[in-house]
Amino acid sequence: MRNAIRVLGLASVVAVSWMTIGAAQEPARQPAPAAGGKKLALVGGMLLTGYEMPPIHHAAVIIEGNKIVAAGPSSEVKVPADATVVDTTGRTMLPGLIETHGHLVVLGHGAYETWFPWIAAHGGDAMLTKVMEISAKQLLMAGVTTTVDLGAPLKPILSIRDRINKGEVIGTRVLASGPWISRGSGGAMQVGFGGLNISTPQQAGQETERLAAAGVDLIKAHAGLTFDDYKAIVEAAHTHRIRVYAHVYAEQDVRHALEAGVDVLQHVGSAGTAPPYSKELITDIVNAGRPVVVTAAHRAWVYQDTAAFPERLQDPDLKKAFGPEIYAEVQDSLTNWWTLGYFQRTDREMLYRERGVKQFIESGAVMGMGTDSGTPMNFHSEALWREIKVHVDMGMSPTRAIAAATRVNAQIIGKGRELGSIEPGKIADIIVVNGNPMFDSTALSHVEVVVKDGIVQKGGGATAPRPPSTASAK
Ligand SMILES: [Zn+2]
Ligand SMILES: [Zn+2]
Repeated sequence: MRNAIRVLGLASVVAVSWMTIGAAQEPARQPAPAAGGKKLALVGGMLLTGYEMPPIHHAAVIIEGNKIVAAGPSSEVKVPADATVVDTTGRTMLPGLIETHGHLVVLGHGAYETWFPWIAAHGGDAMLTKVMEISAKQLLMAGVTTTVDLGAPLKPILSIRDRINKGEVIGTRVLASGPWISRGSGGAMQVGFGGLNISTPQQAGQETERLAAAGVDLIKAHAGLTFDDYKAIVEAAHTHRIRVYAHVYAEQDVRHALEAGVDVLQHVGSAGTAPPYSKELITDIVNAGRPVVVTAAHRAWVYQDTAAFPERLQDPDLKKAFGPEIYAEVQDSLTNWWTLGYFQRTDREMLYRERGVKQFIESGAVMGMGTDSGTPMNFHSEALWREIKVHVDMGMSPTRAIAAATRVNAQIIGKGRELGSIEPGKIADIIVVNGNPMFDSTALSHVEVVVKDGIVQKGGGATAPRPPSTASAK
């Protein structure tokens, strides 16, 4: 029996062996929907399930429609004869990554004061849509199958979210906050990201109601808010069963957000104020089980990494993803990148960065992964693997870091039942990378295959089994 299964699996693999993984870097032009019970099998590679468990070697994952139906050692998992097979031999399979802090309206340009006016002068909404489409595709091709967008004008972001869900645009699955809620904010950033200023808690509650009614997936509580503001936002959001993510740095703000019942604490431990937070605050966060998303790598690490290797700014993949017009504008904005306003406090941030991250890793807090993807020089194509690498370098085990970016993030965003791990019943979001991310996190920068919702979106060949009859294959 065992041998029979092995032979069956092997035969399937041989049938597609001419197709090397990763040969097709572009997404399938017309991704064949796997709906209606269509079967897909990823066979041969090491499997990281998203749990903090040892890897499964020489594994197989079977997908039917958009769901995972089996996963385990390939000697034990039967590959259906009618499945499309993707050979993952010599590679690593893991759950699609989840980004809990991205911004589709930006894609690494150096300055908001010039980026948003440039968009307005080059097509306005049409250009904004184009930018978001590029960002969404970059994320997906980087293995990020789900992204929480934490700040964008309402209509455009909901529109791209829905178009991606309908399959009209190839991109990461988006959960969107729409405009963030803040007090006393101004300038190009506030305008470009569509920020809403409030001046009373009542107003904070009303804006939350309005956003929830418009169909946002969550609320972002941005800068300058009081304890009562947070309370009003949380109350309104929870009535609509959506979560609140707070943008907080200073101890007092973190304390307010925590006690007001904010669901996710963003940015804590990165830059801003001098680490560490008080023991009491960390203990209260840990005991409350409140998730933190440090967003460590942007600025503090990205700046230094760029100083060491400025060539990263001219990555030909960026040129290809952006197209000539946007690429030229981004290049122009980064000419003297070390002088940019965004990096003004980076000297201080680099001094604080290790203590900032380690205080949470060592505390046992629930930690997700988010990157502020799209901010200056923080490209969607690489932000998440950089963030994971920083956490591992700061002492987080690779297993925990990968779990954070997959299963734990899924729980944080309220999708723990559907996403984040490779096991029967979950939605089939799976990536295949070249190398062993348990040994070297940068293996996550070599994403060769992306399966989202049961559909091969990158690489793999998506080789269908031989049609059973002479019917024209379409
Ligand atoms: Zn933020
Ligand atoms: Zn942000």
